[in-house]
Order: sequence, then C-alpha cells, then structure tokens
Amino acid sequence: MKIYTNKLEEVISNKRDINVSFEFFPPKTDEMEIKLWDAISNLKNLNPNFVSVTYGAGGSTRERTHHTIKRIVEETTLKPASHLTCIAVSKEETDEILRNYWEMGVRHIVALRGDMPASSPNYQLHPHGYKYANELVLGIKKIADFEISVAGYPEKHPEAKSVAEDIDNLKRKVDAGADRIITQFFFDTDVYFSFVERCRKAGIKVPIIPGILPVSNVKQTRHFAKMCGAKIPKWMDNIFTGLDEKQDTRQLIAGVVAVELCRILHDAGVDDFHFYTLNRSEMTSAICHILGVREEEKK
Ligand SMILES: Cc1cc2nc3c(=O)[nH]c(=O)nc-3n(C[C@H](O)[C@H](O)[C@H](O)COP(=O)(O)OP(=O)(O)OC[C@H]3O[C@@H](n4cnc5c(N)ncnc54)[C@H](O)[C@@H]3O)c2cc1C
Repeated sequence: MKIYTNKLEEVISNKRDINVSFEFFPPKTDEMEIKLWDAISNLKNLNPNFVSVTYGAGGSTRERTHHTIKRIVEETTLKPASHLTCIAVSKEETDEILRNYWEMGVRHIVALRGDMPASSPNYQLHPHGYKYANELVLGIKKIADFEISVAGYPEKHPEAKSVAEDIDNLKRKVDAGADRIITQFFFDTDVYFSFVERCRKAGIKVPIIPGILPVSNVKQTRHFAKMCGAKIPKWMDNIFTGLDEKQDTRQLIAGVVAVELCRILHDAGVDDFHFYTLNRSEMTSAICHILGVREEEKK
C-alpha cells in the first residue's frame, strides 16, 4: 500500500500562492442588496485581485450595476471590474458608459457581447452598435486605457460553428487588447486543459483564468449550463442523486467538489481562480480557506 506522508498537510496548505477574484451580480431588492454587502464584506479580507459585477444584456441592469460598482469604489479598497455588454446598444451609448466608469475611478472592464434575448428569436443587433466583443474591446481602448477581461468557452460558445472558429474569435478579442480571459464554468478539468492548449497553439498568450461555479443544485444548474454550452458530467448527477431534500448535504458536497476541481487545476500549475459567488460568501470563503487563501493576519 502506498503511504502518503503528510498528504493532508500538503493539501490543506496555508501558503498564499493562489490568487482569487470574485463575481457578483447587481441586487434587485433592498434585501438582496443587504445580502450582497454581507458577502462583499466577508470576502474582501481575502484580498481578491479584483471583484466583478455582471451587467444585463441590452443594459437591463445598467443602473443597478452602476450603483454597485459606485459603492465598491466609494466604500471599499477593492478593485472593481464592471461587466459591460454591447448588444442592443449604440456605440455612443456604450462609449458614454465607459467614460462615466473611467471618471468614477473604474479601471477594469469585462467586455462582453451579451446574450440574444430568448424571448425575441429574430432579434437584430443594434445598427450602430459594437456587434461582437472584439469590436467592443477595440472601442474600449479608444476611450481609455482600461484593463480588459473577455469571456472564453472551454466547451465552445453555443453559437460558434466550430471550436476552431470560437478560438479564432477569442484570438481576435485578445489581439484587440484584452489582458485576460475568464472562462465559462466547467466541471471536467480535461476540458479546461485542452482549451488552454488550443488557445496557446493559436498564439493566445494572456492568462486564462478558470471560472469556478460551486454547484449544490445540479437541477438548477443544468438549465443554465445548457444555455451557455457547458456540460454536466455523469458523476455530477450521480453525486447528488437522492439528495433533493437534503440541502445541507448538497452544500457540503458542492464545497468538496469545487475544492477538488481547484486542487487538480492548481497541481497542473493554475494559480488564479475566478469564483462565481452568486452573492453568497460562505461557500466561496470556505473553498478559499482550504486552498490557503486567507484573511491576512492583523499586525
Ligand atoms: C466570464 C463570463 C462573464 C459573463 N458575464 C456576463 C454578463 O455580465 N452579462 C451578460 O449578459 N452575459 C455575460 N456572459 C455571457 C455572454 O454575454 C454570452 O455568452 C454571450 O452569448 C457571448 O458573449 P461574448 O462576449 O463571449 O461574445 P463574442 O466574443 O462576441 O462571441 C459571441 C459569438 O459570436 C461569434 N462571433 C464572434 N465574432 C464573430 C463574427 N465576426 N462573425 C460571426 N460570428 C462571430 C463567436 O464565435 C460566439 O459564438 C458572461 C460569460 C462569461 C464566460
């Protein structure tokens, strides 16, 4: 039998060689706002590289995203990254939003096209808008020297005709000036490794940060995963079988699965992780803690 000396000690490290960032969404109600700020104040002491706030396609959350980002700028020392979608909006309007963010002190944009509204299958792009994210990246750089992140899809974007076309598009976004790629969530680490390999072969050199979604409700996630082209592996279904009524158990399993995913990636050399927090801190902070990302000790 193989003896794993000090394996647990190795695994449960408290070395800080991992960097994290956190994604939040803009709250809709006062109650949700309180929860979000609870999460932000619990997670801010982990010193994330940045915290990002999502933005509804077509500007549906424009005011709420703006309000959340403004509070982050004014009330914390965190570095905010504002998501910005360009679909259904004129270039002028998008440029105006960018100028406002720059004035407000925001220096990082997550540049996205956004999804076509599901309710309008014949939806047309804005005639005077940025059509795709690569055009948006070019537009952003003309407004100011923002740091820019863009989206990458380890399992291919659902609208892309082929994997090769999708990688070409990603390369266009990076060539236009993107500094980093944040991936859609995935549950199979080989999928991520192959994606990174394809990107490197295509000459994409910027960091490719895995987007980590801790899943405690596989049924809910399935719907979203289908829309964004991510697969739910069979083992994920199996592990939650029989636990529909046992939310606490599902939560614990979600944490363990996410830690394992991060550990496999970390063992292969990945040091940066982007967490989809869903505006809750407990799960993300527990995962970070086990990975050695901890509150700095007060001197
Ligand atoms: C990390 C991350 C964060 C996200 N945050 C948000 C958010 O805050 N709000 C939101 O609404 N959505 C968000 N999304 C979802 C995203 O908006 C959708 O996946 C959207 O459908 C594509 O956006 P994109 O920026 O990747 O688009 P693009 O890079 O423009 O690509 C969209 C599709 O068009 C294809 N394409 C690109 N250029 C061309 C061309 N010239 N000709 C033909 N086809 C082309 C691409 O291959 C791809 O299939 C996020 C996704 C990720 C991974």
